Amino acid sequence: MSSAGGRHFLQIPGPTNVPERVLRAVARPTIDHRGPEFARLTHEILAALKELFHNRDGDVMIFPASGSGAWEAALVNTLSPGDRVLMFDHGFFARGWCGIAERLGLEVDLVPSDWRQPVDPAAVEERLRAEGDAPYGAVAVVHSETSTGVCSDIAAIRTAIDRAGHGALLLVDAVSSLASMPLPQDEWGVDVVVTGSQKGLMLPPGLSFNSVSAKALAASDNATLRRAYWDWEALRAQNARGFFPYTPATNLLFGLSEALAMLREEGEAAVFARHDRLAAATRAAVQAWGLETYCADPANASSSLTAVMTPDGVDADAVRQVILDNFDMSLGTGLGPLQGKLFRIGHLGELNELALGGALGGVEMGLRLAGVPFRAGGVTAALESLATEAAAASATAS
Ligand code: PLP
Repeated sequence: MSSAGGRHFLQIPGPTNVPERVLRAVARPTIDHRGPEFARLTHEILAALKELFHNRDGDVMIFPASGSGAWEAALVNTLSPGDRVLMFDHGFFARGWCGIAERLGLEVDLVPSDWRQPVDPAAVEERLRAEGDAPYGAVAVVHSETSTGVCSDIAAIRTAIDRAGHGALLLVDAVSSLASMPLPQDEWGVDVVVTGSQKGLMLPPGLSFNSVSAKALAASDNATLRRAYWDWEALRAQNARGFFPYTPATNLLFGLSEALAMLREEGEAAVFARHDRLAAATRAAVQAWGLETYCADPANASSSLTAVMTPDGVDADAVRQVILDNFDMSLGTGLGPLQGKLFRIGHLGELNELALGGALGGVEMGLRLAGVPFRAGGVTAALESLATEAAAASATAS
């Protein structure tokens, strides 16, 4: 049976559901990307992005690319051939970024880590103190590891760098955390935030970003890795006039403008609280099912997604297939070594309590149909969690 009516449930941790308002904005007629209307759009978007990232003194770069392009841009604009980069093997995407750094000719020190745990700030400090004659140019970490559902403490990593008295740049992948979890760039001293359009920003895939601190802009003057398409300077020079050095993704920028307006209307604190609520309810469901989240400690859980381990001998991809076939819902697959061992529930971007209830209902029915040993009652536990939060919110409001 396949659900013929209703919409497809896209519950992967990105790309996420695109709100109607954003879809309508993307569908507007394309305009001249060298005309005055476009220049106004660029200026308006760049100003709004600086607020979104909490980046007062630096600049935000927009690329017509997926998140991986912004990974590369962050590295080629700040580092030189042979520079040492401190990275941690804390998930599939951390490994992916490391692979790009290595292919660019950087000297990556990839610290073996437990994927079920966040990056250890004490290990950051220890490595920086023990660097020897070849200083690290940058520390690069993934904030919300989309492959594991584990969130690393960026403020604590900043403190660790400062305690070591080290001048390394801090580069942070916020592909699945921006606009879902707090990452105040100035306050946490992040030099480059890397992100993409297709998750918390509620846009289709196709845009990516570097939010760059004043310190990273200064570092880029001396960085000598080859760069052409990703060059921040060329982009900044054109952006100052409202334009781009190439044909920009005009219609995605219409969508971005609308998505930024939606985020402003909801308010940053409310957006983060909503993600926290939905994440907590999802974890309540997993616990009631008698299953385990891949993230070992809920205190480190990402609010964007939850990775759910299937019991030994149960292929998580087979469960996902049953859910897709029967209920028209897509869940995220396990990535790399985690394939078949877990499925990932995305609860970021445009999502509310009722939609999450439906998604968890699909998971619970799917577990049953797939013959997974589990306890019923996860959805009830999730609804209980959501209702308790709603009651608390209305008590505070009245
Ligand atoms: N970093 C993280 C944390 C991601 O989740 C992803 C993609 O999901 C990427 C980087 C790579 O982004 P993209 O697939 O848009 O190139």
